[in-house]
Amino acid sequence: MRTNPNIVITGTPGVGKTTHAELLARNAGLKHLSINQIVKDEKFHEGWDDELQTWIVDEDKLLDHLEILVAPGGCILDWHACDLFPKRWVDLVVVIRCDSTTLYDRLTARGYKGKKLEENMDAEIMEVLLDEAKEAYDEEIVVELKSDEAEDVEANVERIEKWIEMWKKDREGEEDEEEQ
Ligand code: ADP
Repeated sequence: MRTNPNIVITGTPGVGKTTHAELLARNAGLKHLSINQIVKDEKFHEGWDDELQTWIVDEDKLLDHLEILVAPGGCILDWHACDLFPKRWVDLVVVIRCDSTTLYDRLTARGYKGKKLEENMDAEIMEVLLDEAKEAYDEEIVVELKSDEAEDVEANVERIEKWIEMWKKDREGEEDEEEQ
């Protein structure tokens, strides 16, 4: 049994996943797993997609590696996709959202252009990640949080920390019941 929850932080590139994951990891003492970084560092990819300017991920290798890391709990899985993480790993799914004008500015500042910029803008406007999360996990563990301004990050992270406390209390309650 996990004593800390595993939390997925997902959303379109540029919405603020890393910003949230880093602050949450610091404040709540969780382990931040940047999936992009792991894919790159461990070479869990089958090459580079030149058109979309992204790695083609070897999902089997990635999942085998992550399975060991998430087993004890207390991990933040930070990625722009979420439906490949098995349900049994995940206690909360946070979908970060952002206003499309703001997102456009963030992505162009990052050098996104052409098809990559277009596809990511469309994905945010069409709520692709939110739908994906709701389809892959029970709706009651999926929360949507806005990240337009700096204050949003702190408020969102505080909210997630409160949720973690509740999750732990619920678990303690369940364990007590089992012992009786
Ligand atoms: P992602 O991990 O989803 O790609 P990042 O966390 O890297 O997004 O954020 C993308 C950019 O937007 C960064 O420059 C970050 O500082 C900025 N940013 C993210 N969230 C906010 C916010 N709520 N207010 C202002 N800037 C933000």
